[in-house]
Amino acid sequence: MSLLEVQNLHTRFPTPRGTVDAVNEVDLRIESGEIVGLVGESGSGKSVLADTIMGIVEEPGEIAGGDIRLHGDSLLDLPESERRKIRGGSISMVFQDPMNSLNPTLTVGEQIAEMVRLHQPVGESIRLPAELKRKLIGSAKNSEAWRKAIEMLESVEIPEPESRATDFPHEFSGGMRQRAMIAMALAAEPDLLICDEPTTALDVTIQAQILDELRDLKDAFDTAILLITHDLAVVAEVCDRVNVMYAGQIVERAETNELFRNPQHPYTQGLIASTPRLDAPTEALQPIEGNVPDLIDIQFACHFAPRCPEATRECYEIKPDFRPVGESAENGTQTDENHVAACLRRGSQEERI
Ligand code: SF4
Repeated sequence: MSLLEVQNLHTRFPTPRGTVDAVNEVDLRIESGEIVGLVGESGSGKSVLADTIMGIVEEPGEIAGGDIRLHGDSLLDLPESERRKIRGGSISMVFQDPMNSLNPTLTVGEQIAEMVRLHQPVGESIRLPAELKRKLIGSAKNSEAWRKAIEMLESVEIPEPESRATDFPHEFSGGMRQRAMIAMALAAEPDLLICDEPTTALDVTIQAQILDELRDLKDAFDTAILLITHDLAVVAEVCDRVNVMYAGQIVERAETNELFRNPQHPYTQGLIASTPRLDAPTEALQPIEGNVPDLIDIQFACHFAPRCPEATRECYEIKPDFRPVGESAENGTQTDENHVAACLRRGSQEERI
């Protein structure tokens, strides 16, 4: 049984212009202790998929179909009170902009200690005004939760964690705030950590450090990570497996090395060709023409057809299903379920159109 299984998920948003199918027929699987990438351009539905897994899709958005299973149990069957316990407990999330997620009126240590209290049996958390909460938490600096908060700051390599724990978020640099967010998310010792563009706002040096730390933390805490990014270089750096998402759908999935060595879907090939590489001149970059389509009532069967250099008439009429596309699948000798793509012009000779 997988840690997380997303099956045929459909999340939509009614608008005056029509229904936005932000996530459409998506399957996703994450095993314990692995880092799985979800990559695609802005507007491809990655963040809506993460919000749907977390159970934080805002109205009028709704889950129109499919299932999300954690340890085999459906999350969609649970009442909101149970979902809330899972959110920040078994599943935690780190967002791109930590300033929007951290409370500016509480110190960083207080916020991590609060998360520990909420999700671990070291004392009850209560909903109180920030001023009163600060007094209560501040008076309990010898508490187990506070000590755990210091440990968490140390684990994400915040220097002098004991004194920095008493700083407010605005006293931290951008990289330190993101580390604090990761510490807070891990404080509940989640089974799954969802990181939505966790390093996008940071410079490349800090980005590399945080990606390194995520990998180390995954091992230390045995936490699976779903890493959402538009940046293939980030995926190449840390992910075990990758799902490529386009216009609300997964279009290719493979182990990371295999995906970069042998990309099959024309969209994945376009993403790789448009990603800068240290060993290639920038003139060799080939951006994908056009934009992600408006997700309202898409009429063409393959969502990538208007941008695809290989599109034929059939691509607008026949919906491409997933098919094995690894080398063994290409020569027809055996299936290769580890590497699949949804493209009519890939797979074995018999399958191709
Ligand atoms: S099905 Fe057709 S349009 Fe879609 S990716 Fe394949 S070749 Fe391109």
